Amino acid sequence: MVEYRIKKPFPVVQTKEMILGSAVHSVFEKGWKDRDTALQVMKEEIEKYKMTKADANNLAFYTDIFFLNFRHMLYDDDQIEYSFKIPLHDNVFLVGKMDRISRGNIFDWKSGGKLPKSLSNDVQCMIYDFAYRSIFEKEPSSVCLVGLGEARLVPFVKNELFYRELFTKIIPRMVKTIKNESYEKLGMFNHSCFRCQYKNGCLGKAEVDE
Ligand code: SF4
Repeated sequence: MVEYRIKKPFPVVQTKEMILGSAVHSVFEKGWKDRDTALQVMKEEIEKYKMTKADANNLAFYTDIFFLNFRHMLYDDDQIEYSFKIPLHDNVFLVGKMDRISRGNIFDWKSGGKLPKSLSNDVQCMIYDFAYRSIFEKEPSSVCLVGLGEARLVPFVKNELFYRELFTKIIPRMVKTIKNESYEKLGMFNHSCFRCQYKNGCLGKAEVDE
């Protein structure tokens, strides 16, 4: 993916799930305070993406779940869509965006799919945890994935073994791969290609399993 993102920019293919995810984030970013604003943003997103009735219904459902279950946990002084760029070493940066930081709690909205029972080995949560510590020089109160389809919030539980493996082995190996440009199409073997936005550039007309 890195190759197509940085080195060979290629028109991306947005999947239905990605479009729904973008619309959900937009509604929660601009309309989180009150339902009327959220409904207005929802309408704009449905129009912008020419969403199907089924997807528009899902967006409305996720918005309802948000106001029923999670809105009360948020505050005016929250940081929304918080971007970070943290130097790791030698001109290498950890770059990303957190959906919301609310008084030390990091929330990531997940539309569709079931969340796992435990999040101790979740790479995204580990990165957020690391980023928060680096930026604010303290531990986050929590890092949580919020499953909108299930109305469920799953907190990340830090595990030193996973953490060490990610930051001392896996990320350095990824950096090495990028520097050497020795990419392999590993997505073909772990069922990632079907939802990859670069699949046309990478695989051409080849079929991939879902
Ligand atoms: S199409 Fe598959 S192999 Fe190619 S970049 Fe995407 S996930 Fe990787």
